[in-house]
Amino acid sequence: MNILNKVKQGMLDSTKAIKEISSDVTELTKLKIALSKDLTRIEELYYDLGKKMYALFEKDPHIEVDEEVSSSLIEIKATLERTKEYQLKIESLKGIIKCEQCGYEVDENDKYCSNCGNKLKLLILEKINEEAVNFEEADENKEVEHTAVDDIEKKPE
Ligand SMILES: [Zn+2]
Repeated sequence: MNILNKVKQGMLDSTKAIKEISSDVTELTKLKIALSKDLTRIEELYYDLGKKMYALFEKDPHIEVDEEVSSSLIEIKATLERTKEYQLKIESLKGIIKCEQCGYEVDENDKYCSNCGNKLKLLILEKINEEAVNFEEADENKEVEHTAVDDIEKKPE
């Protein structure tokens, strides 16, 4: 029977019961904290190990490793290259954000259109989210840029 039930049923006097509960709780808390710290540390160690392994692979792509390790390393490499590509595309797209109200070209950091004073923040966020979705869809065919450019070219008529 646990201590709380004993207390409920009046089997322990309250002073003794409180002492037992608090020492149990303290011990439990200590163990939980210790466990949680070590679990976090293990995650960090795995992560560090992976980064060290990848650094070795970057130095020497022909490094001798197990096939499964090798496939992870190759996937990391491909993913890193993809993220660099996305970042470059995002940077270049950020440069062509336009005010929804007047079409004036605005800077990514602008809160208001410097031409008409329209509030821009939401528009910019929407634009970035939109592009993020497009990147996922256009993983294989690289038509995102073409579509964006076409739209801009069609507008001034
Ligand atoms: Zn404007």
